Amino acid sequence: MNKTLILVVEDDPPVRNLITTTLKTNDYRYLVASNGEEAILEASSHNPDIVLLDLGLPDIDGVQVIQNIRSWSNLPIIVISARSEDNDKIEALDAGADDYLTKPFSVEELLARLRVTQRRLSFMTAEARTAGSVFVNGKLRVDYAGGCAYLNDEELHLTPIEYKLLCLLSKNVGKVLTHTFITQNIWGRSWENDIASLRVFMATLRKKLEPEPDSPQYIQTHIGVGYRMMKVE
Ligand code: CA
Repeated sequence: MNKTLILVVEDDPPVRNLITTTLKTNDYRYLVASNGEEAILEASSHNPDIVLLDLGLPDIDGVQVIQNIRSWSNLPIIVISARSEDNDKIEALDAGADDYLTKPFSVEELLARLRVTQRRLSFMTAEARTAGSVFVNGKLRVDYAGGCAYLNDEELHLTPIEYKLLCLLSKNVGKVLTHTFITQNIWGRSWENDIASLRVFMATLRKKLEPEPDSPQYIQTHIGVGYRMMKVE
């Protein structure tokens, strides 16, 4: 049995029905909320495993819901936004959302996002059990204490910025990190040219990390949004 508990926050009944029907047929348990106040109440009283959160809610802003939940919990939040709300999506990721779905989305996309988040959850639980000083993902190994990284047991020769980037991505594996979040963490600021530099450093990091840079296995690009390290089986 899957029985992961999902909190579905969506005010639009047809979209909500599509989501809950998909969850039901795929053996997920779910709760529903149709506005932000209800979402906060349901999240705090039922402790769901994952929240699916529409950003355009009738009462409070979806970003405020994220900020509220983040003040007491790290539970994964996947935001749902319309294409016209691209800035809201980035704001939501910066406020602590883990991932996003853009409307209209397919049932397959929804299930794929849930699987990514579940893999992240089980990885984080395992990581918590093993103190987490070494990160292993597929053939990649990052030794945080030793300050070095390996691919296929061979040490990667990374510049300090590339190494910082790799650590940031690996510590947030499975999560979409925005350009602003990354540049703030690496350079402590987020100017236009920092985002341009980020692209350059990401390209050189990928050349060292990805066997086939044209079909990256480890680092996914989210155009106009940021990057995510994928959990490799
Ligand atoms: Ca809505």
